[in-house]
Amino acid sequence: MSGVKEFDYLVIGGGSGGIASARRAREFGVSVGLIESGRLGGTCVNVGCVPKKVMYNCSLHAEFIRDHADYGFDVTLNKFDWKVIKKSRDEYIKRLNGLYESGLKGSSVELIRGRASFAEDGTVEVNGAKYRGKNTLIAVGGKPTIPNIKGAEYGIDSDGFFELEDLPSRTVVVGAGYIAVEIAGVLANLGSDTHLLIRYEKVLRTFDKMLSDELTADMDEETNPLHLHKKTQVTEVIKGEDGLLTVKTTTGVIEKVQTLIWAIGRDPLTKELNLERVGVKTDAGGNIIVDEYQNTTAPGILSVGDDTGKFLLTPVAIAAGRRLSHRLFNGETENKLTYENIATVVFSHPLIGTVGLTEEEAVARYGKDEVTLYKSRFNPILFAVTKHKEKAAMKLVCVGKDERVVGVHVFGVGSDEMLQGFAVAVTMGATKKQFDQTVAIHPTSAEELVTMRGGVKPE
Ligand SMILES: Cc1cc2nc3c(=O)[nH]c(=O)nc-3n(C[C@H](O)[C@H](O)[C@H](O)COP(=O)(O)OP(=O)(O)OC[C@H]3O[C@@H](n4cnc5c(N)ncnc54)[C@H](O)[C@@H]3O)c2cc1C
Repeated sequence: MSGVKEFDYLVIGGGSGGIASARRAREFGVSVGLIESGRLGGTCVNVGCVPKKVMYNCSLHAEFIRDHADYGFDVTLNKFDWKVIKKSRDEYIKRLNGLYESGLKGSSVELIRGRASFAEDGTVEVNGAKYRGKNTLIAVGGKPTIPNIKGAEYGIDSDGFFELEDLPSRTVVVGAGYIAVEIAGVLANLGSDTHLLIRYEKVLRTFDKMLSDELTADMDEETNPLHLHKKTQVTEVIKGEDGLLTVKTTTGVIEKVQTLIWAIGRDPLTKELNLERVGVKTDAGGNIIVDEYQNTTAPGILSVGDDTGKFLLTPVAIAAGRRLSHRLFNGETENKLTYENIATVVFSHPLIGTVGLTEEEAVARYGKDEVTLYKSRFNPILFAVTKHKEKAAMKLVCVGKDERVVGVHVFGVGSDEMLQGFAVAVTMGATKKQFDQTVAIHPTSAEELVTMRGGVKPE
């Protein structure tokens, strides 16, 4: 067709899933065009995992300073300057944007800058130019949800958090998911008077009950700088002449709030794509419906990542995108991502690491009689000599007579770096006996995972 530029593979979205799939497709020699409307790298690199982890690391320093005196260091803290870390974080991300661009160039992926949508003739339109792919991948990700509440516009979202030029004196964070928990934890530990508002009794309600209980209990402790408001919903936000906010809630009023952050969920960026023109169906939430091979309801159109609404995590989008390219362009007809045993970490204070089935999921899938649990709760040695105390807790979820470990859940210091190796073991189908046969590393928190005894049945 004249005036339409054709590619073997046309990718919409230059985030985690899109870039990974595009570059892998090039390795198989097909022509690839990639359309991106914003900064390369998508959510993860620009307003997600990466800047979040930098800020988490920053808040870790605040925690270490708290315990310095107990370890014998006479250190006086004069001030914390948010601008310093914001500047170096932004510079780091700019470098990453550049690396993504040179990576695409190096793989000869043609980068098309602009916002894509499907035209009536089924081509993909960007700034008036038309493109077509023999296969087209939609990997447009999502954006934060803003509630329909009077004055909601005075709040910001997680994208806005990364634009803050200073540490707010008082912050209200709304939400109980991992993004809310992480942002609130960073701000509270850096010294903002931080209020976390959750709709129900607990944070992280979709995680294993032990993790949700432990983190909520820790947030309730006086030693945790964060103020947790349970069963609380915002009813109205008012902006005063001084620019400060009054946040009215179902349980009271929080005044003189400098920054209000909505972290109540994410919506897929699928509306403006005109998907109906090409027969790509979405669910009620706008998530693209895909089968186990990432096929949408339209032939030759595929989707991976956050816009499919499943496991909104960067490595998931990357793995699905890469496997898809193997399937489409390297004859690996069965290659696909199995959405199981996906390990994840919550950069909360204390940390959480988790892989596999929760206790509740294991009981639902295998029945109570088949499930055996191993649990441990202890004081990590890091806090043995400090005034500040933090617990650690661990749980193994095992099934069947051979006690195959189907879930590993860890709360406490070190769980972030601990989990990847255990995820390998769970993926390989390791049993409790094999965990027990593994010689412990002492003294670590991780050793607890291979020394737990006394299995119990779920209640
Ligand atoms: C605050 C925060 C913290 C997070 N922390 C973690 C973490 O620690 N670990 C983890 O694994 N995950 C984390 N995530 C999730 C992770 O960022 C996403 O799961 C991941 O980025 C999804 O990749 P994707 O390719 O599906 O979408 P994205 O990375 O969002 O990429 C989509 C791209 O498509 C572009 N686009 C959208 N519409 C169009 C259009 N019409 N035309 C052209 N381009 C378009 C966008 O500009 C974007 O660049 C976090 C997310 C947030 C918000």
